[in-house]
Amino acid sequence: MDALTTHPWDGGPDDDDKPHEECGVVGVWGSADAAALTALGLHALQHRGQEAAGIVSAEAGGIFHAHKGRGLVGDNFGDAAVIAGLPGRAALGHNRYATTGETALRNVQPLYADFEFGGLAVAHNGNLTNAHTLKRALVRRGCLFQSTTDSEVFVHLIAISLYSTVTDRLIDALKQVQGAYSLVALHDGALLGARDPLGVRPLVIGRLAGGGPNGAYVLASETCALDIVGAEFVRDVEPGEIVVIDEAGLRSLKPFGVKPSRFCIFEYIYFARPDSTVEGTPVYDTRKRIGAELSRESNVPADVVVPVPDSGVPAAMGYAAESGLPYELGIIRNHYVGRTFIEPTDQIRHLGVKLKHSANRAVIEGKRVVLVDDSIVRGTTSRKIVEMVRAAGASEVHMRISSPPTTHSCFYGIDTPERSKLLAAKHDVEEMARIIGADSLAFISLDGLYRALGRPGRDAANPGYCDACFTGDYAIPLVDLQQNAAPSLSLLQANGQ
Ligand code: AMP
Repeated sequence: MDALTTHPWDGGPDDDDKPHEECGVVGVWGSADAAALTALGLHALQHRGQEAAGIVSAEAGGIFHAHKGRGLVGDNFGDAAVIAGLPGRAALGHNRYATTGETALRNVQPLYADFEFGGLAVAHNGNLTNAHTLKRALVRRGCLFQSTTDSEVFVHLIAISLYSTVTDRLIDALKQVQGAYSLVALHDGALLGARDPLGVRPLVIGRLAGGGPNGAYVLASETCALDIVGAEFVRDVEPGEIVVIDEAGLRSLKPFGVKPSRFCIFEYIYFARPDSTVEGTPVYDTRKRIGAELSRESNVPADVVVPVPDSGVPAAMGYAAESGLPYELGIIRNHYVGRTFIEPTDQIRHLGVKLKHSANRAVIEGKRVVLVDDSIVRGTTSRKIVEMVRAAGASEVHMRISSPPTTHSCFYGIDTPERSKLLAAKHDVEEMARIIGADSLAFISLDGLYRALGRPGRDAANPGYCDACFTGDYAIPLVDLQQNAAPSLSLLQANGQ
């Protein structure tokens, strides 16, 4: 995930109406179909990033092959000839969502470099909070950065490390970075997977049938990527753990000591695919429980519960079941709409949401509608949806949100706009209701969210999750921000390189 240049929420061609998603990573070891399985895994993780996709494969003897391109996985890897050009029993893949306006090919992961020890490919999901500071120091030492992605910092730290094995060099690099990362790396001798010491971003281990005496393995951001390739879920990579998968099988290293985990709570609310299980907890069930909790906390007399598709669907089902109200698809989503940048003028751009969603008048007209969505970021989506539902004849519109108010930006790999653009950072709930045009608005409480996750409430001393976007409790130091490190030293404009 990039963070070294401007943010799409801050203007420019990518500043569309919707926030974007993160990155997805997949690694396969020990299968003759490594590249094809990696492509399938990336396909299942498409929701985590749609800007670009890349795969690097490794053949015995340290011969690497790469294919990367802008756009969706299917656009880049749908052709059998492309997969045939990625031979080898190991492969690494990445779906990229750029938090920078720049979608240059040089930023598309996996990043690959030739080192003293041979080739190494790296794919990263997350965001480093000291990337600018490290980059500055590395450039001073003579490191020549080729991209503007923060993930390239890993490559240079590994290159200059004085340790001899690749694993030791990786550990050395990880000890210097701060931030959130789920990292998968591939070299001639092994597939490596690592999560940051607080385990903010997800990474799971799966096992494929066959693959020789010590097995074939898959590392992936979410279990839905294991399901699509028929891999059996083994376990999550633990916070602060490095797994090394090689011809001898899988071994685990914990060079950072054990710290209380702070997994990203927003993965449960929005990011992860509903059929994934993260950190032992199924996402779909959690979303339904959040909806039920929301109904208990802020029920309102109404006739029908309507989800804002797709993200509001499971929470709306939970809300409806708990409240006893009928659940209806009062908003239909068009799944075939491309990015809003295809809409040329401001006036047309403004219609963006209507291209994606339309009201199903038959179930809305004359009804008191409870609309359920997962979050309000800038309020753009909610305002348009509320207006659309009213225009379709709803007599009342009550907005219910399955997350607490998003009051703070994320610096750990979730794309949020700067704080000044967050509706909840500037307005209380009543003002927000007025701004989005709803008759009432309610968010799930922080404690309610934790209850839905099976805890008694939020324990401030040990929350167990990263909830900085709702609380401002940033568990990992925001080094670059505090040091006011400039976003980029790079003057090179990408021009599609
Ligand atoms: P907004 O229109 O700015 O209030 O954005 C809220 C909508 O964006 C909700 O419908 C969410 O489902 C969705 N959303 C929230 N956070 C993200 C994110 N980081 N990436 C993509 N979509 C998001």
